[in-house]
Amino acid sequence: MPLSLTLALSKGRILDDTLPLLADAGIEPAEDISKSRKLIFDTNLPGVRLLIIRAADVPTYVELGAADLGVSGKDVLIEHGGSGMYEPLDLKIASCKLMTAALVGAKQPEGRRRVATKFVNTAKRWYAEQGIQVDLIKLYGGMELAPIMGLADEIVDIVDTGNTLKANGLEPREFIADISSRLVVNRASMKMKYQLIQPLLDRLRLAVEKRSTTSS
Ligand code: AMP
Repeated sequence: MPLSLTLALSKGRILDDTLPLLADAGIEPAEDISKSRKLIFDTNLPGVRLLIIRAADVPTYVELGAADLGVSGKDVLIEHGGSGMYEPLDLKIASCKLMTAALVGAKQPEGRRRVATKFVNTAKRWYAEQGIQVDLIKLYGGMELAPIMGLADEIVDIVDTGNTLKANGLEPREFIADISSRLVVNRASMKMKYQLIQPLLDRLRLAVEKRSTTSS
């Protein structure tokens, strides 16, 4: 059987940045992804397929070998943890910051802080490093609402322009990490399919470099 490669892409906002980069690297879906409800797509390259899945599921697919490669936000990778993947390339797309935020002007509480986030593992580690005692509240979206409704004192969330925080009366407080999307590769695939993965990696690396030289 000829070798094939499966590349798992995060759907949503990251996908809008990923597809043009893949096109720059010579990889194009065989049909318009935005006009289809399918989850698997062939590409112009024989044997190379794309999976379109939830961002938080990409590390799982790649780590367990259901996909050979993936494109995943660093926020998702930090939260996922685990060491079952290589991370050979910063794609320098979907750049943003992971930050804490609170209601504008709100004072820190005296005792333990209540922190709402979907990044509970990351937040737990970061607050422990700062020596700050917190009670973490897991939410799945709309974190900004938690301080407004008195569910939490602050949140840990992705900030890009800061418009979402501002629109909800919140302000960024502490910087936690710079985020961008990364290419991840399953460890076994890297060994077994190196001859297929290596040229793909080279093409992507070149496309990323080309963009940074034209933008600087
Ligand atoms: P902004 O209003 O530009 O600060 O965007 C913040 C919101 O957009 C956050 O609530 C995030 O959920 C989402 N967001 C912005 N950039 C990214 C990204 N690179 N990856 C994932 N989510 C993002």
